[in-house]
Amino acid sequence: MSVADAAKPLAWHGQAYSTKRFGVSITDCDSEPVQTPGCVQAHGALLVLRPADLTIAQVSENSADVLGTAPAALLGRPLQELVGPAHSARVKAVLLQPEIERNPSYVFTHTAAHTGLALDVSVHTVDGVAVLEFEATGRDASEQRDFYALIRRSVAQLQGATTLSALGDIACTEIRALTGLDRVMVYRFHDDGHGEVVCESRRDDLPSWLGLHYPAQDIPEPAREVFRQTWIRPLRDVDGGLAELLPLTHPDSGRPLRMTHCALRGPSVMYTEYLRNMRVTASLTMSIRRDHKLWGLIAGHHYSGPFDMPYELRAACELVAQIVSLQHAAAEEREHAAYRQRIDSVQQQLVTQAAQEGGLAALLDGPPTLLDGLDTGGTALYHRKRWWCAGSTPAEHELDALRDWLSTRPEMLSRDRPLFATDQLSAHYPPGLAFSGVASGVLAIALSRSAKNLVLWFRPETAQTVRWGGNPHDKPTVVGPHGARLTPRASFELFVESVRGRSKPWLAVELEAALRFRMLMMELIVLRADQLAGLNADLARSNDELDAFAYVASHDLKEPLRGIHKYAHQLAESAGLLGEADHQRLAGLTRLTLRMDSLLDSLLHFSRVGRAELQLEDCEVGEVVEEALEMVAARRGDKPTRIDVPRPLPRVRADRVRLREIYTNLLSNALKYNRQATTTIELGWLAPHEAAAHPANAAWPAAAGAQTVLYVRDNGIGIEPRHLDQVFKMFRRLHGRDDYGGGTGAGLPIVKKLVERLGGVVWVESTPGQGSCFYFSVPTDDGPPNPE
Ligand code: ADP
Repeated sequence: MSVADAAKPLAWHGQAYSTKRFGVSITDCDSEPVQTPGCVQAHGALLVLRPADLTIAQVSENSADVLGTAPAALLGRPLQELVGPAHSARVKAVLLQPEIERNPSYVFTHTAAHTGLALDVSVHTVDGVAVLEFEATGRDASEQRDFYALIRRSVAQLQGATTLSALGDIACTEIRALTGLDRVMVYRFHDDGHGEVVCESRRDDLPSWLGLHYPAQDIPEPAREVFRQTWIRPLRDVDGGLAELLPLTHPDSGRPLRMTHCALRGPSVMYTEYLRNMRVTASLTMSIRRDHKLWGLIAGHHYSGPFDMPYELRAACELVAQIVSLQHAAAEEREHAAYRQRIDSVQQQLVTQAAQEGGLAALLDGPPTLLDGLDTGGTALYHRKRWWCAGSTPAEHELDALRDWLSTRPEMLSRDRPLFATDQLSAHYPPGLAFSGVASGVLAIALSRSAKNLVLWFRPETAQTVRWGGNPHDKPTVVGPHGARLTPRASFELFVESVRGRSKPWLAVELEAALRFRMLMMELIVLRADQLAGLNADLARSNDELDAFAYVASHDLKEPLRGIHKYAHQLAESAGLLGEADHQRLAGLTRLTLRMDSLLDSLLHFSRVGRAELQLEDCEVGEVVEEALEMVAARRGDKPTRIDVPRPLPRVRADRVRLREIYTNLLSNALKYNRQATTTIELGWLAPHEAAAHPANAAWPAAAGAQTVLYVRDNGIGIEPRHLDQVFKMFRRLHGRDDYGGGTGAGLPIVKKLVERLGGVVWVESTPGQGSCFYFSVPTDDGPPNPE
């Protein structure tokens, strides 16, 4: 049949497929009938026997070369004629054992009459037929290796492995030591089907392939299926010939031979092409299974010609693969336990750090920081309305958008689901594609109910973190009839495409650790909230006591002061008794008592501000300002004064009397501390969102962001920067006692106390010689700002 005929799918979609004839026409790896190739590797011969009478139903076409007897002389004949009655009887006996089903067992060594070569003969049954395989042992009789001793050592080593990579490393080393192959690798399948070389033992002069990734297509589904059913797959010679079965289908059933378990099974042309592109000349592949699934492969490559892998050597390797599979869960559990312990210890330190240093920001002060412990590329903490980042993270505006998205999606991150993890963010959140380089993988935990405060960990895109051993572009390729298939370069590009926007997946142990960390942080936050509440209560109590003291002191001191004033006055009246100097002293005494009286009044008033009950109501600030202006009208005198209100003042929820007092004090100061020909005062405000958008500066307090901000701006004398802190302190005047109309230095402290009682903050910005602006904030209608 010509290749052109063979290309017609029906030529082999009917059952008589032969790799030798049609293999080159395969274009779709996933449809190749790799389990029924109809061919064997030509270094051995295969017989299909009828179990009932051991007559030969099919034979590989190379029987004359391997066994010394041509197919025609074997077909239909009893096995006994080829191997003698004793060996035939042995086969018959073995066939009675049920474990022979799909499980090749060595039965005897046959010496080929025409060459004198020793051939290992193994047998198994499948689909009601017996399959006998003859393979050259590949060793001379003098070379006897004690496989039992060798394998015992391997088993002991494998059992001691405490991590998956140690287990894989031991498997690679042991299989290389057993076989002498040039390279042995553990190849792991990821969830998306793509593979990665995770362990390797190689000849010193070979480049390392550790960390290489391959697209899923490199090991097509039919090949994976074979490895689910069989433990080992030898390919003695990538360039070796294929021998077809004669006839191609069973003469009794018309079915092709299922060769899944045959050591001699002919390889697919696609596979040999692939191996040739990697300069591999022989291969031995074993499966690693975990929970009945194919976890990965142990792949052995040889680069220096054909490689004999006799039965007993394969049996030893197969045992290693089985032990790796058995030990796999235990090694992973040990590895994860160690990882878990490492993360826990880092997180414990972090929490202690945060507890001692009194803030979540300590989580990024380090060492350690949030970046340690979990295996990630970057981390970001959102707390106190700002980001704290370490490692590689998206930009702040991208973080903001991601946080908004996360916090508005209860199905993603909420009180009931306080964790969100993905290894492909852009699949859930398309804008994430913009920063998939640093954050294809995201693990998020919410630190507050609404998920507004959170911790994010990021993992970069796999494609950015993998490397190709050597340059894939340099490798020579074998171009088959369908072009360069499965070349290293094409493979790499396919792989990169398949992992676009994906990161290494999050492990269960990592998710659990993140949740545990969250619990610890929440406990810490609650603890700190309790401590703060306690401190606040203490503070409130001592404030109350101070107010009470100030009240009592100022109230009670007024009485004796009045007495002193009265006596001084009476003394001054007693003319003739006192000289001029005495009169002056008495006048000074009277002045001082009056001054002290006004200081006591201020103190009394200050203490009352803290004690009086608030009467909250909706207040039109415009009206309150009108009243305040009326009250300070006297201070305006005749001096030209301009009052600007750039836009109507808002309505706020506040205690009207106290709000008015705030304005009276501020307006009175604005009028007092002014030497301009015309006093200009601007009365304005910022809505909460405007306040939040105000550029951050040292004076602008963060707490004002969620509140309505009111201000009184003047063109007065201004305040020196070094005095800005002083002006809100009790009895602190920046001028002589009687300058600028005099004062006690109690006005601004009273304003501060009033504003704080109303739940806001007060601050000032000022330029000496140009003017000052006093800002104060008032909580919005929703009540006090959320501590979150
Ligand atoms: P008093 O006005 O009684 O001195 P305040 O507590 O109201 O007390 O003010 C404290 C100090 O802050 C004042 O002495 C003054 O130096 C300064 N000050 C207050 N308001 C202004 C203003 N609008 N412009 C310049 N300085 C001011």
